[in-house]
Formats: sequence, C-alpha cells, structure tokens
Amino acid sequence: MPERAYQLWTADQPDFNWLTRVKSGRGDSGMRPPYVTVLCRACNRFSLDDVFRLGFEPPHRIRVRKGRNLLVTEDYFLCVRDGILDALNAAGVKGFASKPLPETEWHVLSVTDRRPFDASVYEPSGRKCAECGRQPQYRTIQFERQIDRPAERLTFFCTATERGQGGFDTFVTEPLLEVLRGAGAKGAMFQRLLDADEEERQTREPSWKPKGSVVVL
Ligand SMILES: [Zn+2]
Repeated sequence: MPERAYQLWTADQPDFNWLTRVKSGRGDSGMRPPYVTVLCRACNRFSLDDVFRLGFEPPHRIRVRKGRNLLVTEDYFLCVRDGILDALNAAGVKGFASKPLPETEWHVLSVTDRRPFDASVYEPSGRKCAECGRQPQYRTIQFERQIDRPAERLTFFCTATERGQGGFDTFVTEPLLEVLRGAGAKGAMFQRLLDADEEERQTREPSWKPKGSVVVL
C-alpha cells in the first residue's frame, strides 16, 4: 500500500522571491542572462528543469519572514535552508535533487519522482502560446485516485508534467511530512489527498473535511 500523501502549498505566505529574475540598476526587472536561452521567445515561459540544469549563479537574496526555512518562489522553485536539507539527507529521503543557491543558506530542490496523474483535473484558462503551446491551468488534484502514489515510504513526488504557467504540483508522503515536522520546517501548508470514502462523503457534503487533513508548518 502506498503511504498517504499531502500536497505542499505555500500560497498563503507573504514572501516574494524570484530566482530567474533580477532587478536592474534602473529598478526594472528582467530575466537573468543565463536563462534567456531557455525561454520561449513568444511567451517568456520556461521549464523548471532547464533552469535547474543551468544552475544558480550569485548574487541571490532570499527574503523571508523570521524562522521560515521552506518556500516556493514566485517562479515555482522549491527552496529549503541548510538545516532542512541536512535533515532530508540524514533521513534518506528520496525523490529529489538539490543545488545550492551560492552565498546563501538556501538550496533549490528539483522533485524527480514524476508520477502519472489525471490531467483532466486541470482547467485551461487564457490564451495558448502559439510558439510553445503552453496555456495556464487552474484547479488541482484533491483525491488519491487522481495521481499514482509512489511505493517509496519517504519521498517527494510531483505531477509528470508542469502546469502551462509553470511549476509542478508537489507532494510528500506522510512519513516525509513527519521528517519535515521533526526538522522544524516552517513556511508551508500540507493538504492530504482524500481516499475514496472521504471523496464520496465530500461529494455529499462539500464543506466537510477530514480532521487533521490540513497541516500548517
Ligand atoms: Zn510560449
């Protein structure tokens, strides 16, 4: 039996950080030069994997609320501080690769366990890019049946493909959530995927949520 799983969210957080953009001396914001080569020329979107492969050159400055050690940037990169990465490695957590953000205490994680999922949960919105075909997609996975959960006990996993606007929906197994909690992770909300019985009840009572299915760290 796969472990129960939680989707990772950071949308309620007040911090705004970008890894691919930089402010010029005149105050306007532009793409960091190394990444210009991987942008779609029509819509300026990019694949997270292309940027992660190129890596991260200083200077970077991550601004967060005091004590926060886990975040997803505005350009959809999952980042953790040194102490969290150490805890993940010490526990033998699978499903990710990491690269440092030089001259900072932060690391970028790329979730590497890409799982088949029911892409019909997404609702396309707005214009489709004529060049690359990307189109923003809203709504999200809520139920266990909508994504293939890994057999690994302690692992990150994510959707097989990126959303049209960028970013993978990212999940942790329940034992990994406990590792994060034990390491003092702070700055994310975790929402558990509901099983068939819970889904059936929620269909009848849309405002119902199982106790403990939302965890805020
Ligand atoms: Zn495009």
